[in-house]
Amino acid sequence: MASVDTLLHAIKQAGLRLTPQRLAICRLLAESKTHPTAMQIYQQLKPQFPSLSPATVYNTLEALVSLGAVNMLGQAGDDEVHYDADTTPHVNLACVICHRIVDVTSSYVLYLDQEVSQNSGFKILGARVLYYGVCPECQSKKNLADEHHSAGGAQ
Ligand SMILES: [Zn+2]
Repeated sequence: MASVDTLLHAIKQAGLRLTPQRLAICRLLAESKTHPTAMQIYQQLKPQFPSLSPATVYNTLEALVSLGAVNMLGQAGDDEVHYDADTTPHVNLACVICHRIVDVTSSYVLYLDQEVSQNSGFKILGARVLYYGVCPECQSKKNLADEHHSAGGAQ
């Protein structure tokens, strides 16, 4: 889990001014477990910082990503880029129905890093392992809908 300090350090390293807005963005990223999109961050902080602009959110995220403090995840089927402040090896699982992204730790991810590094000669700085699927909640909702449907059809 990334600490707020790591993110604040990256902001300074990038030469950006540490404003209360940027501090709030870093806090939100460090505490969030939901892998927010830039727009979700903006909407969550806007009531607290009426002067906040989407551009500030985007350039802050861009700086954090370029320094490796935050990973940019692919979209979760919703055409939005999600951000992840946890740069330790783990697997992301995206639900294609509700678009949530959850983290799963797997010891294999570490081995995968090593194997990729050995086979390519690359020094690995980070990794994004993203699986797509249907989360348990959406599976049970779908099962309920199917049961309802077949019950209705039998009458
Ligand atoms: Zn779901």
